[in-house]
Amino acid sequence: MASHHLDQAVLLDYASGSMSHSLSLITATHLALCPACRRDVEALEAVGGAILDDVSGQDVQEDSFEELMARLECESGNVSATPTSPPVADEIAHLPRPLRDHIPLHDGKLRWGRQGPIETIFLPCDDPGHRIRLLRIAPGKGAPQHSHRGLELTLVLQGSYHDETGRFGPGDIEVADPDLDHRPIADAGAPCVCLAVTTAPLRLTGPLGRLIDPFLTI
Ligand SMILES: [Zn+2]
Repeated sequence: MASHHLDQAVLLDYASGSMSHSLSLITATHLALCPACRRDVEALEAVGGAILDDVSGQDVQEDSFEELMARLECESGNVSATPTSPPVADEIAHLPRPLRDHIPLHDGKLRWGRQGPIETIFLPCDDPGHRIRLLRIAPGKGAPQHSHRGLELTLVLQGSYHDETGRFGPGDIEVADPDLDHRPIADAGAPCVCLAVTTAPLRLTGPLGRLIDPFLTI
């Protein structure tokens, strides 16, 4: 059971279908792992439905009601937390479906690249400036000290890590903003596998990081 969740404002964005694709993907993946946030989204969707009933009960023109319905239909543009497509490679069979369908495979296998001490797979992303990555971090290793130029959402899929704010295990999601300066380190045991979404490049803040940051785009 996850102990670090998404706040109501983020869940409301998701429920209303106004979220970017990258944030929608990580939110849907957390929802697949977190019954508590799933219940919150269902409640928010029920409120949205009640508001719609209210509007349709008034004297609205047929056109505008159709428009409303069309907009709700467009919510399918949201990444769905509901399973829909067939299973893929064994290596990722345990991952929640909304994520699994977005992971690029090469001959049925994951192809990990490396960024410093972290193994990385980039997932397709249409949102300008956003990055969606799978990260695999060996025990005791981690990202360099950094802050954020935008948001960084990190969802643990396997193992765990800790930073200045606490410990994050399977299903936990951390939302880091420009106010947070942290250094996530994987805990002992299995490698820590995370899904990470950034809306802007990170800002390295350690002594060495400050020197090399202007030349990097992480
Ligand atoms: Zn949750």
